[in-house]
Amino acid sequence: MERINLGSHHEDAAQFREQIRLESGVDERDCYQCGKCSAGCPVAFAMDYMPREIIRMLQLGLIDEVLSSHTIWLCSDCIACYTRCPRSVQLPQLMDALRIRAREKNLAAEKNIGMFGDLLLGLIKRFGRIFEMGLIITYNLKSRQPFKDVLLGPAILKRRKMGLLPHKIRSVDAVRKMFERVKEMESDTP
Ligand code: SF4
Ligand code: SF4
Repeated sequence: MERINLGSHHEDAAQFREQIRLESGVDERDCYQCGKCSAGCPVAFAMDYMPREIIRMLQLGLIDEVLSSHTIWLCSDCIACYTRCPRSVQLPQLMDALRIRAREKNLAAEKNIGMFGDLLLGLIKRFGRIFEMGLIITYNLKSRQPFKDVLLGPAILKRRKMGLLPHKIRSVDAVRKMFERVKEMESDTP
């Protein structure tokens, strides 16, 4: 299956890789392509490129292909890959840096990801923890796909995988202070 266009090398690939190394603390040259990360990744089945392939594409300079992949958004930062990697490549940190760049360059494959992040953080600020049901309903409504997960709802509720109502943690004020601190740090950043 033809998936990579080898003619689309990013002209600033070397510079891009250098910046990503600085931002993520990960040197893609450390990877020797053993594939242990892909073998242990719990969401590899849904990815368009395996975690190992993402690193290989970076090594080859296929920057736009990496930044427009679904894989970087599906990575859940579980660190299973890192614990298995014989070269201690911090793939989760690399994925974080790639996600930021993908949004900056308007290449994010998940077009509503900004809205999803805002909703998620809004709920955490309000309740001190995630409220999955509220997130799904609000996201589906705002992204104009109100019936997207309707058929899954009964099974999820029956198995008690999610609650219908939110639970607020006791120290929600401490969580809100963290949000305020981050906002201050962002406004201090030139
Ligand atoms: S486990 Fe580490 S060395 Fe092996 S392919 Fe993955 S990142 Fe590269
Ligand atoms: S951190 Fe991401 S890439 Fe690594 S195993 Fe978890 S989901 Fe897969």
